[in-house]
Amino acid sequence: MELNSRIYVAGHRGMVGSAIVKKLEESGYTNILTRTSKELDLRNQKAVFNFFEAEKPDYVFLAAAKVGGIHANNTYRADFLYDNLMIEANLIHAAHLFQVSKLMFLGSSCIYPKMAPQPLKEEYLLTGPLEQTNEPYAIAKIAGIKLCEAYRDQYGSNFISVMPTNLYGYNDNYDLNNSHVLPALIRKFHEAKENNAPAVTVWGTGSPMREFLFADDLADACVFLMENYGERELVNIGTGEDISIKDLALLIKDVVGFEGELEFDTSKPDGTPRKLMDVSKLHSLGFKHKTELKEGIALAYADFKVKYVTA
Ligand code: GDP
Repeated sequence: MELNSRIYVAGHRGMVGSAIVKKLEESGYTNILTRTSKELDLRNQKAVFNFFEAEKPDYVFLAAAKVGGIHANNTYRADFLYDNLMIEANLIHAAHLFQVSKLMFLGSSCIYPKMAPQPLKEEYLLTGPLEQTNEPYAIAKIAGIKLCEAYRDQYGSNFISVMPTNLYGYNDNYDLNNSHVLPALIRKFHEAKENNAPAVTVWGTGSPMREFLFADDLADACVFLMENYGERELVNIGTGEDISIKDLALLIKDVVGFEGELEFDTSKPDGTPRKLMDVSKLHSLGFKHKTELKEGIALAYADFKVKYVTA
């Protein structure tokens, strides 16, 4: 990438896209293209083709997606499958038609089989059944990976795929029903502290294991790989360390300063028992995350307080 290359970041209002834009700007890139979903509906093929024809991006970060936590994935199953398939198909095909030099597709750790060995290696893709709560989202993300591979195979396109682990950071979604566990718990502990509530309810048993990466570290990895990686194989992006939901809850409780109890609502699903990325490939390419979990939670909590209190 040249500093004046035309770089389109799809999904720049989201947690991941906004972190990528910030990283690109910090790195000196001057020609970053963005559109809000109001300006450009990525599910609309014609609108996407018109945008590519007019703007002719050289590089594309495909960080636009319909995303959510375990409840949202499980509830809006059709929307998660349809919206994500359309976004990927339109953007990847447009990148082909309008001769984008390189495209990065962002997937998810939920593409791996529910019962795959841990830590999850890139080659475990499509070796077993998926977790049922997020199967539609995972199927859409797998289709995106396969599109990148197929355009590379058939047309020689330099389309690469990266698989981020569970993320958190600035501009996260704090909706209690539809967000992921980490932002949901930040909000629950904050509100419980404000209201002097006796306890906070954690969904499930607390025993599932999850890995969490600060979105700014993901953005650093994405820009690094866009600059340095051009192979067909996926690359996992994570920390390589995981924590139980119960211990995560205790950590957030500590950062927020809530003094009450934890309660577990076992009528809510646990989801996949463990989801830990094997990041040896990422490390061997020369990248390692910087932000440790407790520090990242404190940064996210500070951002939450500014936005939540002003909202
Ligand atoms: P997943 O990684 O796709 O399963 O998505 P989530 O981040 O939504 O959930 C991770 C785990 O945290 C699951 O076992 C949830 O049941 C558990 N969890 C505990 N409390 C909450 C909560 O308040 N919100 C969410 N989304 N998950 C929670």
